[in-house]
Amino acid sequence: MAGSATPMMKQYLDLKKEAGDSLLFYRMGDFFELFFDDAKTAAGVLDIALTSRGEHGGEPVPMCGVPVHSAEGYLARLIRAGCRVAIAEQVETPDEAKARAKREGTPSSKALVKRDIVRFVTAGTLTEEALLEPRRANMLAAVADLRGTCGVAACDISTGRMELEECTADQLGAVLARIGASELVAPEGWDEAPFDAIARTRTDFASEAGEAALKRVHGVATLDGFGDFSRAMLGAAGGLIAYLDHAGRGKLPLLLPPVARSSSAIMAMDEATRASLEIVAAQNGGRAGSLLGEVDRCVTGAGARLLAEDLSAPLTDHAAIEQRLALVAEIHRDPLLRADMREMLRAIPDLGRALGRIVAGRGSPRDLGQVRDGLIEARRLHGVLQSRKDRPALLDALLPHLTGHGALTDLLSRALIPSPPTERSQGGFIAGGYDEGLDELREVSGNARRAIAAMENRYRSETGIASLKIKHNGVLGYFIEVPSKHGDALMTADSGFIHRQTMANAVRFNSLTLHEEANRIAEAGGRAIAAEEAHFEELVGEVSASRERIAATAAALARLDVSAGQAERAAEGGWCRPEVTNDTSLAFTGGRHPVVEAALAKQDVRFIANDCTLSGSDRLWLVGGPNMGGKSTFLRQNALIVLLAQAGGFVPAEAARIGLVDRLFSRVGASDNLARGRSTFMVEMVETAAILSQAGERSFVILDEVGRGTSTYDGLALAWAVAEAIHETNRCRCLFATHYHEMARLADTCPALSLHHVRAKEWKGELVLLHELAEGAADRSYGLAVARLAGVPKEVVARAKSVLDKLEKGRAETGGLAAGLGELPLFAAAAEAEEEECDLLREELQALDVDALSPREALEVLYRLKQEA
Ligand code: ADP
Repeated sequence: MAGSATPMMKQYLDLKKEAGDSLLFYRMGDFFELFFDDAKTAAGVLDIALTSRGEHGGEPVPMCGVPVHSAEGYLARLIRAGCRVAIAEQVETPDEAKARAKREGTPSSKALVKRDIVRFVTAGTLTEEALLEPRRANMLAAVADLRGTCGVAACDISTGRMELEECTADQLGAVLARIGASELVAPEGWDEAPFDAIARTRTDFASEAGEAALKRVHGVATLDGFGDFSRAMLGAAGGLIAYLDHAGRGKLPLLLPPVARSSSAIMAMDEATRASLEIVAAQNGGRAGSLLGEVDRCVTGAGARLLAEDLSAPLTDHAAIEQRLALVAEIHRDPLLRADMREMLRAIPDLGRALGRIVAGRGSPRDLGQVRDGLIEARRLHGVLQSRKDRPALLDALLPHLTGHGALTDLLSRALIPSPPTERSQGGFIAGGYDEGLDELREVSGNARRAIAAMENRYRSETGIASLKIKHNGVLGYFIEVPSKHGDALMTADSGFIHRQTMANAVRFNSLTLHEEANRIAEAGGRAIAAEEAHFEELVGEVSASRERIAATAAALARLDVSAGQAERAAEGGWCRPEVTNDTSLAFTGGRHPVVEAALAKQDVRFIANDCTLSGSDRLWLVGGPNMGGKSTFLRQNALIVLLAQAGGFVPAEAARIGLVDRLFSRVGASDNLARGRSTFMVEMVETAAILSQAGERSFVILDEVGRGTSTYDGLALAWAVAEAIHETNRCRCLFATHYHEMARLADTCPALSLHHVRAKEWKGELVLLHELAEGAADRSYGLAVARLAGVPKEVVARAKSVLDKLEKGRAETGGLAAGLGELPLFAAAAEAEEEECDLLREELQALDVDALSPREALEVLYRLKQEA
């Protein structure tokens, strides 16, 4: 890049302008080069050398590069670091560039190979196997905002699945948290909630444009056949498709017909609830330690992806849940079937993603092979399942999708070799016998190769040079090589050998006959590759034409894998089939927390199972007991059991009955959320406010130590008021863990609230945590014993003990922290209770015959009445 405006620099700068804020990968021969700030960014992220090349505006131009053959790995790292990349390829060969220059009258020395951005690579638009995690969907989402009504379009372009839904601006955060997109597309200027990784685009989010785009993509005149879509949904779909169109430079990936999602069909959970229950990711962001990580026994990537989706979106539809449960139960009941299914599924390649690459125009012969193998295996599985009697309804619905690809699999089986390569430019993937012409071409080059082998022998005996060899390389093609000492003997004009090259210890020749055979190989080889290329395109066309049916097969296989995996997990852990009802009760016997149980099992510690029974008349449980006693675990296990059941799977309990939950909330007092720049207590209160405004009679709420994030008085006051409000107003099922003993008094005024605690005892001066739930209030908090258990020095614990004694003495004298709370009117219930007491008092007073009392008796009555009041 010498000078300030070399043609190459000009070309680069033009392309960079088009690339915008994406890093520009500029193809130069076998490298993608990056320049200027792009180079600095990439060198930093990739930890590769930053060099410079030429000058621009008097300054050296920073540069770094990555080899084309290993570019995928580098791309993956850049994308993970939040970058977007524009790939500029050479779109003509140097010869074509020269010819063009000649036509255009520019000197051929100035001819510059034309380059174009062929694609933008972004987190949400990946299809490459190497860049995707097999067990994780990669979602791209788009949001359209129609004055308060939001449309959300979500799509996994690696498989083409697309969903549209509508929500209010308030619900948007929860919807996006469920989708978990790796990239979000929003209209320019849209600046709502704090989402990371937003791509704002100039794209059109109008519903008319969206409708037109969907019709065009699917070649239909109306969308009625796909479902009912609102204007907001269509707007979002339009934005999504326009963005994909831009990223693929006009080439769209696989897009299946959109599915309308209704938010009422899904159990609502907001972002905080998802994070606190660690559903698909643990607090540290990893899969290990999450519910998904513990439940997942899928044997295919597609199954694991569907399970993650199921757990992220538990159902609220009774019939749909029962359908899933019935299939899991069937496979659970029959261990042989389960083993067979899992073994067959394990052999099935990732059909959906192979299809995605093929339709996106990035498929390889290997992908075609995977489609073939996947479809053939699906048919085998069909055979096994079809023969079963009394099939559950869901199985009956899935079965037809496993077959019906006979013509396509026959074609692919005939056309392809058993294990086709990922690289198609070398050919060699079309099976013999499929195309006579191709077979002949291969025969010609085979014959010529054999002729060359024979030629080598003949030359050896003719020249008497036993070490003579015929070799091949990329520069010379075929040539004859002899050691230097024999070189001169062949240099004579009548030897028939034409000198090509003298090396340090060898001399290389050509010959007319060798030249002829080599030409024959090259020509036949070139034509064979062209023929294979044509067949490849035909096969891609055939597969693409069946895209929807193949995708349906992939989806059916994934559902079977999820069900078989759930059955396997249930068998492994002794889980039960939950009974789902339409009331607002909940009864779990012997419930366990799957993740904690698994972690304890590794240390050979047994998990203590606990029961939980909530109903309309006993719907709020206050759970007390010492720290580390198992309160959080108990709360969470019950939420997880609800979630697993409504996702349609078995649950870690001996027996479970659940009245359908419409919304699930989980809050943990003041956890570390400083990263978001709000004080932890503020976060706690914002989240609590959300529960109080949203939870209804069908909801299930777990509140863990709410009020912990502030001073004791504030904290107790808030926890008290929140519990009351939940009891009186929300009337949802709720487990409320707290270490404030004082709250036990709520039981006096709240009839549907009951007291429970995790048991502990001191034994020989040591604290023993039993992790067992019992009825009644906790008698003490054992805080000091926990401190001792945790290794706080003896002297400190002793000092704390004397401070505590003082405090407790003070409490005894003044009535303690909650002194007087009993007199606090408590909403309607409290007022009513007070009214009742007054009435009694009045009655008693009226019944008194004052004149008949002696002064002493009158005094006694007064004392008694005062005490009762
Ligand atoms: P808390 O919320 O009361 O402070 P946690 O629920 O966090 O207590 O539990 C603390 C630890 O006790 C857990 O990490 C786990 O090791 C153990 N634990 C909790 N519940 C059980 C149980 N039911 N059985 C066995 N161990 C348990």
